[in-house]
Amino acid sequence: MKAMEEKILKEGKVLPGGVLKVGSFLNQQIDTAFLADMAKEIAALYKDCGANKVLTIESSGIAIATAVAMELGVPLVFAKKHKSSNVDGAVYTSVVHSFTHGTDYTIVVSSDYLRPEDKVLLVDDFLANGKALIGLTDLIHQAGAETVGAAIAIEKGCQGGGDALRAKGIRVESLAIVETMTDDAITFRK
Ligand code: 5GP
Repeated sequence: MKAMEEKILKEGKVLPGGVLKVGSFLNQQIDTAFLADMAKEIAALYKDCGANKVLTIESSGIAIATAVAMELGVPLVFAKKHKSSNVDGAVYTSVVHSFTHGTDYTIVVSSDYLRPEDKVLLVDDFLANGKALIGLTDLIHQAGAETVGAAIAIEKGCQGGGDALRAKGIRVESLAIVETMTDDAITFRK
């Protein structure tokens, strides 16, 4: 998506440790018109995949995942980052290593919201090493449901997570794939 590459070049900031900051349009302030464009692009890519549910992780994936779910006309489910009192009964859990925080956390989803008959599209804001998506596919596997693919706003191709998932046979579509990133230059995969 050319507009995503232009947006990253114009508004993105590269932080130490290989973190790309896009707080002006995706991670803190949300450019709602652009969010709608992103969702339309992703929904067009996945219109025939048969997904009946979109799954993401709180909190930064929720905005784009909700917009995609609205376009597809299906519910959005988000995995919570800790077992909370709002989740009762049977739950599926998986441990995920956070690239941005350098720590492990547990993701939790109620078995009420992931059913064996579900065909699930994963949506997230970023894909780096792929740990978040692997954790989500683990929850889907525990539920006996099916992963139909993953859609990502920004993939950092240099970290290899997306290609590792593709090598496992998972369809991964990203609106922009950052190939290299330094303080003064960002390049994209063609
Ligand atoms: P992964 O599990 O693929 O290593 O990392 C994906 C998660 O880490 C995303 O859900 C996102 O919240 C966060 N993340 C990874 N890299 C970046 C980055 O460069 N910028 C921002 N803002 N978040 C990132």
